[in-house]
Amino acid sequence: MLPPTGGGIKLSASVSPCDWAPMSRESEIQASSLPGVDRVLRWPRVAAIIERHGRDIVLEAVREALGESRERLTSGGGGIETPGEQDLGDAVEARVEALLAPSLRRVFNLTGTVLHTNLGRAVLPPEAIAAMAEAARGPVNLEYDLQSGRRGDRASHVAKWITRLCGAEAALVVNNNAAAVLLVLNTLALRKEVAVSRGELIEIGGSFRLPDIMARAGSKLVEVGTTNRTHARDYSDAINARTALLMKVHTSNYVVEGFSAAVEESVLARMAAAHGLALLVDLGSGTLVDLERYGLPPEPTVGAVIGAGADVVTFSGDKLLGGPQAGIIAGRADLVARIKRNPMTRALRVDKMTLAALGAVLRLYADPARLAARLPALAAMTRTAEDIRRAAERMAPVMQAYLGEGWRVAIAECMSQVGSGALPVGRLPSMALKLVPAVPKRSSGRALRALAGVLRALPVPVIGRVHDGALWLDLRCLDDETGFTSQLGADAVP
Ligand SMILES: *Cc1c(COP(=O)(O)O)cnc(C)c1O
Repeated sequence: MLPPTGGGIKLSASVSPCDWAPMSRESEIQASSLPGVDRVLRWPRVAAIIERHGRDIVLEAVREALGESRERLTSGGGGIETPGEQDLGDAVEARVEALLAPSLRRVFNLTGTVLHTNLGRAVLPPEAIAAMAEAARGPVNLEYDLQSGRRGDRASHVAKWITRLCGAEAALVVNNNAAAVLLVLNTLALRKEVAVSRGELIEIGGSFRLPDIMARAGSKLVEVGTTNRTHARDYSDAINARTALLMKVHTSNYVVEGFSAAVEESVLARMAAAHGLALLVDLGSGTLVDLERYGLPPEPTVGAVIGAGADVVTFSGDKLLGGPQAGIIAGRADLVARIKRNPMTRALRVDKMTLAALGAVLRLYADPARLAARLPALAAMTRTAEDIRRAAERMAPVMQAYLGEGWRVAIAECMSQVGSGALPVGRLPSMALKLVPAVPKRSSGRALRALAGVLRALPVPVIGRVHDGALWLDLRCLDDETGFTSQLGADAVP
């Protein structure tokens, strides 16, 4: 299972504590010669583990370790020696550590996808981390108005900043954007019809499908237009007494190109107003600043969509915004007030840590000129290929020494993507370490999978991408070069 030669790779923890030397044949008798649980718990070696981790978890580990030994002795057909204090102690310790190891761990995201949903999307700035820690540490005025001494509104801590940054009258924050869409539809279009273009009936990762959300919200989806072309009259033809909303959805992870047509927000907003309806826009990523000023492909800003007349806009907190997981609802004050009164709002509300982090991130937007330097998500997206190449030149020799002769490490151009359905077709020129096994290409698959497994087994797992006969490590998101190289056996960046 090791990559070819495995030359410089050090595989720690590959020796199981249960690898006892083979010897005896009288397995039944041996199994009964295993020490009892109480005796093992009194061994000084095990008592020391209890001292550190408490009795309950050690008891569980001792039972499991003894059970496994018994199993091995009885089914091993002899040839296995009864484990002694040292071996059993090692086995217990390893078990306790495995039981207590956190499941959620830091990883290096070298996939080339900046906002990777499976890897937790946006990395938060220090200001947000500090705010979260502060909120977690003790009581806060979450729903308490310090001026009046009365009950306050939890949304108020961020609403002021959201409205200021996008020009909406009011705002509300819920668990994520899927929840935001569900809540808005359930409030404004329960048992009513919602007109959506056939070109915008999206499915995005993690089983968010617009038609399903719509059904769960209790709204009736009315498809208008065609897959590639939808016109204003398609919407107006669909309007009847049961219609509640016109809805526009950002086609986050695809584009309709070629002979295509869609209707602008401003046109739909006027149409909705003329019929006493509201226009809902699910922006998905929803950026608060013009990304072009940072050299990124353009995206409609929340402010532009509000300015075009949308009555309610929904977007994510952890996509282009660069904050914590959250769903933001911004729009007309009367509609946001109705949404707040929906009992579902209580079920979808965010906690104090999310609000603390989101507030800190939004405050960074007060100074857009320095945003790219202060917001990690934007910093990663705007990092130049030249800067990433210099990182690759520092990392390549370390990686080559780690892998040994069985692999060739090259510095190669690649393309990163923003991810999470943001800027679906925008690609960011980047640089990667391209790891190629010294075996014929047609048999490289196994070696690549094995190496990917070895990198995932590092203390801070390294996640790359297997593509075209190589394992690619896109260095765009590598923000801790020293941590990366030190776990490859090198002391520091050369
Ligand atoms: C990402 C996305 C969602 C879901 O947002 P989450 O914050 O992941 O729940 C909904 N609609 C669109 C258009 C999206 O791009």
